[in-house]
Amino acid sequence: MTETIATAETYSDTLLGFTLQGRNARGRIVRLEGVLEEVLSAHSYPAPITHLLGEALVLGALMGGLLKGEHAQMTMQAQTNGGVVRLLVCDYRAGAVRGYADFDAERLAKLGANPSLAALFGEGYLAITFETEGRQRYQGIVPLEGDSLAAACETYFSQSEQIPTLIRVASRSGAGGRTAAGLLVQHLPDGEEGRERLHVRMDHPDWEHVAILAGTIGHDELLDPALSLEAIAWRLFHEEEEVRVQPGAALTRGCRCSTAHYEAIIARFPADEQDEMRGEDGVIAVDCQFCSRSFALAI
Ligand SMILES: [Zn+2]
Repeated sequence: MTETIATAETYSDTLLGFTLQGRNARGRIVRLEGVLEEVLSAHSYPAPITHLLGEALVLGALMGGLLKGEHAQMTMQAQTNGGVVRLLVCDYRAGAVRGYADFDAERLAKLGANPSLAALFGEGYLAITFETEGRQRYQGIVPLEGDSLAAACETYFSQSEQIPTLIRVASRSGAGGRTAAGLLVQHLPDGEEGRERLHVRMDHPDWEHVAILAGTIGHDELLDPALSLEAIAWRLFHEEEEVRVQPGAALTRGCRCSTAHYEAIIARFPADEQDEMRGEDGVIAVDCQFCSRSFALAI
């Protein structure tokens, strides 16, 4: 049994990656505190939406953290027909996470403090898109079923990528602020990622073993600010031959909105359509839904 000793331990707003070489498994752990506050502070969402977005941001970091390269991006989009939450979007690129939700506030208020995923979305689907550093795009769409967004993401990996994956997410808001945290573990039976996976079996004995250990993680452990992410990996897998941990990207609230960004988009519209977008002052006003900033475009 060996452990790779990290020079500094990881607590919040940083990704931690780990591999279990002997089991062909890899994982990510993340705990969001300041970044979560920052994203949420751009909105004045009611508690159930705050909770949902916190979970989505953790999932974004866990799944996006599987990618390599500063241009690689992961986007998750939950959408429904006629659901109380019409749209939930979250994305990740190079450690930057952002997200927002569009919902019917009146109908939401009638659902109580802790509505189920089904109550929030009704019949919905979850689209997950990975764009690699080399601009290759993979998209999978799965029904928004199960108890949580995390469960729908597990379904994405098993159905669209045939990669057995376990995901746990926990969140809490209290006097000390908000925290959301999660663990993702997955089995790569043929070792290195990106290789053709010919022998995927959800009942592979190595995976069953890893999933049982990973499944023992408690919400309190994920959320405990005094427990490092390395300590969590170690608690779960200390009986394994080797647990290799690697601190990943520092996480930030990132948005790519800017006046230049929106001007470039608007410039693609024909002049008469641009004129229709203008206010009485001749200025085109655009709002970024991710961070609730307004931009006045003088084009
Ligand atoms: Zn923005």
